[in-house]
Amino acid sequence: MPHPSTSGIADFQALAWYVDHGVTEALCETPQDRTKIEESPPPLTQSSAPGMAGMMQRHEAQGAPEPQASRFLGKSDAYEEAVKLAAQANTLEELFNAIHEFDGLAIKKTAYNTVFADGNPKANIMLVGEAPGADEDRQGKPFVGVSGQLLDKILSCIGLDRTEENPEKSVYISNVINWRPPGNRTPNEAETHVSLPFIERHIQLVKPKILILCGGIAAKSLLGSNNSISRLRKTWHDYKPQTEALKQGAESIPAIATYHPSYLLRTPSQKKAVWQDMLEIAEKINKFT
Ligand code: URA
Repeated sequence: MPHPSTSGIADFQALAWYVDHGVTEALCETPQDRTKIEESPPPLTQSSAPGMAGMMQRHEAQGAPEPQASRFLGKSDAYEEAVKLAAQANTLEELFNAIHEFDGLAIKKTAYNTVFADGNPKANIMLVGEAPGADEDRQGKPFVGVSGQLLDKILSCIGLDRTEENPEKSVYISNVINWRPPGNRTPNEAETHVSLPFIERHIQLVKPKILILCGGIAAKSLLGSNNSISRLRKTWHDYKPQTEALKQGAESIPAIATYHPSYLLRTPSQKKAVWQDMLEIAEKINKFT
């Protein structure tokens, strides 16, 4: 192996410095000046609007994320804008477009894709996770990395499969957050707050019979609770949206919280607890079928 040159060592140290700071993805070929104010992107036309299959991978189809135009909003402006856009969306496609064009969260800037959903939107069960990781960001779909593979195995134990067409056997999957937080960090409170109207409208449009909240971020934000995931699991909750503009006529949905598969990968001893949660879900499903 050749001895690294001095500049090779400097390059390596620079790379290590980036990785330490959570910069683990090269987003484009050329550096971008993020301090420049850019023009707004053209709105999506009807003909360029994606169908359900295309919608999760739109950035990818366009190549790497361009230095997109944006007008980043202040914290509460961003929330108000999210509420307005969410409430106006009457279909999943409209909701995807609204989220994709939303400029209120800086994490959108560092992500390849808007990660919206996967699975069957007609499924009786909807599962909500935390936020996309690196694999999900690259593919534009939720839960496709290692934790997603474990999730698929867990769901298959109670006869659920995201690729199934039968609503009774399928599952529809999304996340509270639609963009990968850099370096896979945990989304912060402001990010979950601003994203809440979108995921609440998403649930409202899908109208699942059962909601599975996967991990502490999903459980706490959607149940509006400060309790830990270990306290929130093992019991059924009546989920209702907290966003004022979405409350009218909203019916409650039985929701159960369970540990996140990433946590199970780190703490396999908790698989038993998740198995108990799955049995609980299977029993509930039987009541509907
Ligand atoms: N973890 C999540 O919560 N969601 C994903 O989509 C992937 C990993």
